Amino acid sequence: MTKDWETNKLSIYSKTNHDVQQALLSSKPSLEDFKALISPAAKPYLEQMAQKSHLLTKERFGNNIQMYIPMYVSNECQNICTYCGFSLNIDIPRKTLSDKEIHAEAKLIKKMGYDHVLVVSGEANKTVGIDYFLNATKILKKYFANISLEVQPMDHKEYVQLKNAGVHAVLVYQETYHKTDYKKHHPKGKKSNFDYRLKTPDRIGKAGIHKIGLGVLFGLEDWRTDSFYTALHLTYLEKTYWQSRYAISFPRLRPCAGGIPLKSEMTDSDLTQLICAYRIFNQEVELSMSTRESNIFRDNIIKLGITSISAGSKTEPGGYNNPKESLEQFEIDDKRSTEEFTKIIKEKGYEPVFKDWDGVLS
Ligand code: SF4
Repeated sequence: MTKDWETNKLSIYSKTNHDVQQALLSSKPSLEDFKALISPAAKPYLEQMAQKSHLLTKERFGNNIQMYIPMYVSNECQNICTYCGFSLNIDIPRKTLSDKEIHAEAKLIKKMGYDHVLVVSGEANKTVGIDYFLNATKILKKYFANISLEVQPMDHKEYVQLKNAGVHAVLVYQETYHKTDYKKHHPKGKKSNFDYRLKTPDRIGKAGIHKIGLGVLFGLEDWRTDSFYTALHLTYLEKTYWQSRYAISFPRLRPCAGGIPLKSEMTDSDLTQLICAYRIFNQEVELSMSTRESNIFRDNIIKLGITSISAGSKTEPGGYNNPKESLEQFEIDDKRSTEEFTKIIKEKGYEPVFKDWDGVLS
């Protein structure tokens, strides 16, 4: 894969103005067109890309922006990841929410108006394995119509159990598709198995889960090449598991306890280019943005292709009832409340939607 990586990287960086113009004119952009749209050659076309992305998103998704909120249930983790505040080697207090604490968090989140909760945890199979998530889903179904998970990769049978329990979506980020660098960033624990993680979306798709989330962590490797591989993965999955819907997230490395410096910087302009490129390439995929990003960036990106966004988030277990910075996975940037942020969405002419899925259909 590393050899292919270099070939694909070179191909992206060799794209010309002509390739970008062709990609912008195409009614069904190919993966080669996607490469052109994310290439340095596309930089002078950013305004044109933004306009096209805006129109395509409006055509397919209307004026709606889906609202979701993360609920961190545990910061226990058996993996070492060089960039994460929950990494096994970092000396922080560890916490896993009890049933009572899950109820308490759910009540508060519900009061904030949310009907879509994204359950997040570290990867600690003994503490937060399948039984924990089945139980958490059972509790959360009493409060929310839409439950998504961003937790450890599981086996096919476990995804079937989660689907039957009412889980709507599962997000698993590859972090980087560069196999050699992946190993460097994941030296210990189950996550160090690149291939097992890579095949996780297949197991989710085979289980018939309604939505699959993909993404990489920008900052670990060249963002353009990693994004090409994400688009390649997305294209394969869409063809193979066509009953599922897909979502892409765009996490950029954020400061955290014990975190590493960036290998490759992704500027705001780069991220805007990438979001627009995805939309021009694929009109069906949902594009999601978290509170890792700054107020200004989030306010401006609303109109350019994003379809779901979080606000008022906490990244530590129990953080809505009892915020403790020492337990955080990473520092969030946009600290505005849900009310403040939804006001901005409305000012931009969009409708924040808190419920798009009925639990009885899952
Ligand atoms: S990124 Fe995930 S698996 Fe890695 S240390 Fe953090 S919580 Fe654990």
